[in-house]
This record gives sequence, structure tokens and C-alpha cells, in this order.
Amino acid sequence: MTPRLTFWGAAGQVTGSMHVLEAAGARICLDAGLFQGRRKETHQLNATLPIDPRRVDAVILSHAHIDHSGRLPLLVRHGFHGPIYATPATRDLCAVMLPDSAHIQQKDAEYLARKGKVGEESEPLYTMADALAVQNLIVGVPYRRPLYARKNLVFEFVEAGHILGSATVDLRLSEPEPHRLVFSGDIGRSNLPIIRDPAPPPGPVNTLIVESTYGDKTHETVEDAESRLGQMVTRVAERGGKILIPAFAVGRTQELVYSLHALRRRQAIPDIPIYIDSPMAVNATDVFRLHPEVFDRDEWLVDETDRLFDFPMVHYVRDVAESKRLNSLTGPAVIISASGMCESGRILHHLKNHIGNHRNLVLFVGYQASHTLGRRLKEGQRIVKIFGHDVERHADVETLEGYSAHADRDELRDWVRQIGGPIQRAFVVHGEPDAAEAMATILNQEGVGEVVVPKHGESFEL
Ligand SMILES: [Zn+2]
Ligand SMILES: [Zn+2]
Repeated sequence: MTPRLTFWGAAGQVTGSMHVLEAAGARICLDAGLFQGRRKETHQLNATLPIDPRRVDAVILSHAHIDHSGRLPLLVRHGFHGPIYATPATRDLCAVMLPDSAHIQQKDAEYLARKGKVGEESEPLYTMADALAVQNLIVGVPYRRPLYARKNLVFEFVEAGHILGSATVDLRLSEPEPHRLVFSGDIGRSNLPIIRDPAPPPGPVNTLIVESTYGDKTHETVEDAESRLGQMVTRVAERGGKILIPAFAVGRTQELVYSLHALRRRQAIPDIPIYIDSPMAVNATDVFRLHPEVFDRDEWLVDETDRLFDFPMVHYVRDVAESKRLNSLTGPAVIISASGMCESGRILHHLKNHIGNHRNLVLFVGYQASHTLGRRLKEGQRIVKIFGHDVERHADVETLEGYSAHADRDELRDWVRQIGGPIQRAFVVHGEPDAAEAMATILNQEGVGEVVVPKHGESFEL
């Protein structure tokens, strides 16, 4: 049987990553991610699985982000019974992120029900029980440990450098003839805090599936972002203000803690309290502490201490009463809280209490989608609605783009060059149309034999 590859997500868009490989007598999903965005555009895509989960033999999961893992509970709900291969760190992050995804869906469903919208549209895609059931099916596969998923199909994970546990999949078929397929997953960046740099698998590749999120953009370097962070914290602390950082609970929060730790050890910021005020961020940090095996030993802070996330300035806030006490806190402080786009969570209370004061700073470190409070603040609006009330902003607003977890245009090109090739055929996924086209151009310039930007549902013989 000729191997076949079908694109059921992240084709012509960023989210919903799912590519189905039929080879070696098996049907294997590379990722099973959730489509994210406006409900009316994504609900149907998510709810209608393109394949019968009972006829899926295995999933190989690149990393824990919901746009890659978020349909796993749905597969399980509809009869898939494993295995799911993932790195041990990805497995443990899924234990935090998938129940959260189920929780969000349940809340959404309750909200729609209150608004009188009942029916298929308002049903949650899956429950907490489905999310927890995924955990029992995950087989932890460390980096660089080849695993035979079938007699004629072996794969290994290599570092993608994107988030804790993130992997590129290097897969080899030996039947009907030798064929090597590389699935990039999401490609990270050199020098991101904590984790090791991307390590694309070198040599000839028959089929490459490669992401293209920022195929048409460049970022500031991580080093520049860290030194600007230090300057801002120092400036605001000197005038007695607070730095509020809305941050995604998994990954970005830990990178910020790491950077603040590094800055403090270099005496580049003053000794002020840092509060991590998000239960999910606290849980995710526990997962990071469990996985020092994936830390980057080349980083001086990692070399100096294993306790990256624990130093005298930092306080992890789990319970609500403690979080509320932060409202009456006097003096300078850093408060890192979720959600990253200020749509929900404890950050809303902090913004409501603190954006009226001109000494304070709201610092954005991640993407702000349109129609979010984060986007309105980032764009400089003076009056914003929080909990239904108009609040006047006097605090400063700044943005650090350098903490992006995705390779930019130049870093993507470097990644392709490191493979070396020759690369026979490449499929460009995980990008908006302009970014995907830009990545296709890069691949053509780098000498890839054939470059395809697949459409949703399109299928190819390998
Ligand atoms: Zn990702
Ligand atoms: Zn992604």
C-alpha cells in the first residue's frame, strides 16, 4: 500500500493541527488539535471529526498547546483507545491543559444556556472525564529514543525549541520502500529561556510537513526583550509603581519568571516582590519543576541552579483570599496573571484596581487577538470596560514582542538549512495564507523539490 497523507487541520490556517498518515498498515494522527477562534466559525469544524476515531491506531503528539492536543478528548469520547505518543513533559502539561480546555467549554456551554441558546451548538465538545481519560493513553517517549509504532514504522522526537516538551517528529517507513517523513511541529527559537534550541533532524527527507506561523515576519531577539524587561521593571519600581503582566499561564509565565530571576542575579532589577497570580500558572510551574531533563544546560542560569522558578522575590498565589490581598498591596511589585489576552481570570481584577494609577505599567508579552480587552489596551484606548464598568486608564502600556515562542522568517529559513536535505517535497501548514506563501517561497529558494500548501481535507500519495 502506498503511504498517504491527509490534512485535517492547520491547513490554510494556524489552528486545529491534525495530519493523518496511512502507512505500514496503520492509521496515525500527527497531532489532534482544536480549531480556535470565533465559535460560529470553529464549532462545526471541531465537532465533526473527519475520521472514525475507532479506526485510528495511534496519535503522535508534537506538543501540549491546545491547537495541537485539544481534540484528543474528543477522539477518546468517540472510541479512540490509544496509544498517544508524546514526550514525558508534554504528557504532564496535557494533564494541566486538557482539563482546563474541558472546563472552558463547560463554562461556555453554561453561558450559552443562560442566554437561551440551547441545542447542538451549545453542547460542550467533551467533558472533564474525557480530558482525564486522555492521560491514561499517553505513552511518554523521551527525545531521541526511537520507537517502533509498527514493524515498518519507527519514529523519534527531537527538540523543537518551542515550549517545554515540544518536539519535531522524525519518522521512517521501511515499506513498500524506505521513506523518511519529518513533521516540524511548532518551531521555536534559539535562546528561548529554559528549553533547548530547535534541533532539526539532518539529512535527506522525502516528505516534510513544516509550520509557517511567522513565515512573513521578524521578531526582536530574546536577549533584547530580556534587557528591555529589566529596564521597564527598574523604571516603574523607582517611581513606586506596579508592573502588571497579562501572560498565558503555560510557558510564557515561566519564561518571565526565569528572565526576572536572571535579571535579579545580575543585579539588573531591584529587589521587589513578584506575584504569580494564576492557579493554572502555579500548576504549570510544578510541571516545569518536574522536568529538569529538558532544561538547556548551556544557559548560565540553568548551569547555576536547578531552582529556576524559586528565588526569594517570587511568590506563587493559589487561593482567592491571597489574590484579593494583592488589591491593597502598597509599593512596587510585579504581578503576572492570566489570561494572557485579559479576557477572563484574575488579571481583570488587577487591571481594574491598577490601571487608573499613572505610576503603573501594563506590559504585554504575547499576541492580543482582535476584540479582546488586551488588544484595546495595547492599542492605547483611554477608557475600557472591565466587569461592565468603564475604567479610565492612566497607567502606561508597553509591549515586548521578543518572547514569541515561534521562529520568525529568518529562523525558519535557518531551520530548513540545518536539515540540509535534499528535501523532496514539503507541505506548508500552520499559517495564515500570506505567511504560508512566504514560507513556500523560502522552501523554493532553499532548493526543495516540490512545495505544496495543502487545503483542508486534501490528500496526497507519498
Ligand atoms: Zn505551539
Ligand atoms: Zn501551534
